Amino acid sequence: MARDGYGASVSTNEGLLAELRAAVGGDAVLTDPDVTDSYRRDMMPLAPHGAPLAVVLPSDAGQVQEVVRACAAARTPIVPRGAGSGLSGAANAIDGCVMLVTSRMNEIVEIDQDNRLAVVQPGVVNLDLRGAVEKHGLFYPPDPSSYDWCTIGGNLSTNAGGLCCVKYGVTTDSVLGLDVVLADGELLRTGRRTVKGVAGYDLTKLFIGSEGTLGVITQATLALRPLPQAPGTLVAAFSTIAAAGAAVSRIVREGVVPSLMEIMDAVSIAAVEAHLKTELGAGKGCAALLLCQSDSGGELARQELRAIEQVCTDAGADLVHSTFDPAEGAMLLAARRAVLTALEVYGAWMTDDVCVPRTRIAELITACERISAAVDLRVAVVGHAGDGNMHPTIVYDPTSADEFARANVAFNDILAAGLALGGTVTGEHGIGKIKRDWLEREVGPIAMRTHRAIKKALDPANLFNPGSMFAL
Ligand SMILES: Cc1cc2nc3c(=O)[nH]c(=O)nc-3n(C[C@H](O)[C@H](O)[C@H](O)COP(=O)(O)OP(=O)(O)OC[C@H]3O[C@@H](n4cnc5c(N)ncnc54)[C@H](O)[C@@H]3O)c2cc1C
Repeated sequence: MARDGYGASVSTNEGLLAELRAAVGGDAVLTDPDVTDSYRRDMMPLAPHGAPLAVVLPSDAGQVQEVVRACAAARTPIVPRGAGSGLSGAANAIDGCVMLVTSRMNEIVEIDQDNRLAVVQPGVVNLDLRGAVEKHGLFYPPDPSSYDWCTIGGNLSTNAGGLCCVKYGVTTDSVLGLDVVLADGELLRTGRRTVKGVAGYDLTKLFIGSEGTLGVITQATLALRPLPQAPGTLVAAFSTIAAAGAAVSRIVREGVVPSLMEIMDAVSIAAVEAHLKTELGAGKGCAALLLCQSDSGGELARQELRAIEQVCTDAGADLVHSTFDPAEGAMLLAARRAVLTALEVYGAWMTDDVCVPRTRIAELITACERISAAVDLRVAVVGHAGDGNMHPTIVYDPTSADEFARANVAFNDILAAGLALGGTVTGEHGIGKIKRDWLEREVGPIAMRTHRAIKKALDPANLFNPGSMFAL
């Protein structure tokens, strides 16, 4: 027996591997280090990661139950994993663990058009679900930028957000119920298929955002909406961050609810212009771009965009342009979506995820400019202005230990700046293995005690993702 870094005991016992093969089939238990290495970490370079004993690929809930029972008996920790697109290290391996990967649980079990719901396995890719329900005139709103490869299970477990949260909320706002395999191998059903329902504690919401620390989600019942209208798009350019921030505050105060409201700072704009070889205004003293959409359709959408246009003009925008041409709208949105790719030209990136009150976005961007100067690294700020969730992204040379260390300093300084502005250290990416100290700092000792009590009640042997989110 070996011990992992978090106090859970780890068995490297051949007996466990034999049990796992019996449970899921020999081809669904991977142990070749050349293969299992690719499951060691997610997309956050700062987060620690270990080497798994095995990667298992169950096909259904029954197999997950058997895997959980076998690992519990062997006292071997389990790290649930979807696509590994996470940005907090939450799906990173710990030494000697079993990585339970949901890629074979990718069935859309049911689309109920009359009750506007879908039942899905956790390994379904977000975009595949969106495409499938669209054929029935329905809409699954949560749209993380990684939607073409992240899974519904990962989205549920991080309570993922995206570009449309300003109008449609985050993942939890589209969930009716879950099936979860608990630490003793029992299958828990939470929630309901009805629009309303308040029986008992809201166990569904407890598991959403729990980052694989409380159980393995094996099925989800998701609420759908009617398909919205093709969006109209507005872009506004500002010569100061303060003016862009003022426009955001006023749009919120006016009560206009766009279906998307994104902000890009000058560093992001310049990177995208160079990458897409296009003009977005950065060359003409543009400090920030605001990108808004309305999917209300027809005259209502025109009214909403006119109201936003007026607010932007009053706030001092140098240029405001609206379009209902879908191709032009898609092109403008593509510029926003291209920021991270555009930054790769300058080096590796690590992205922060602070969410601040919408009235304080400008202050956060200004703080990022200060931090960027202090560490002498490029920091591009792009974010969901509609909900205050900003992604300051630090660019560094991955071959330079010094730059990596300075990027780490900037990452933490940005979290501190977000908290100081009355915000949170994570709007959507989660705590994972990089922000454990920050969770404690944000929520305080009483909330931490409550977290630990819940974890101990549901997972007394610390089987699931030990050491992620917080240490016991
Ligand atoms: C380019 C890029 C853009 C991104 N944009 C966004 C964005 O706009 N909004 C956003 O919110 N995130 C974004 N992300 C982060 C990431 O895509 C999300 O966190 C996503 O929800 C992770 O899904 P996944 O399938 O990759 O999960 P993983 O990274 O594999 O896992 C994430 C967490 O979920 C747990 N988990 C996975 N499946 C299960 C299960 N079945 N049961 C229990 N626990 C489980 C894991 O243990 C881990 O804690 C982005 C990432 C990248 C690389």
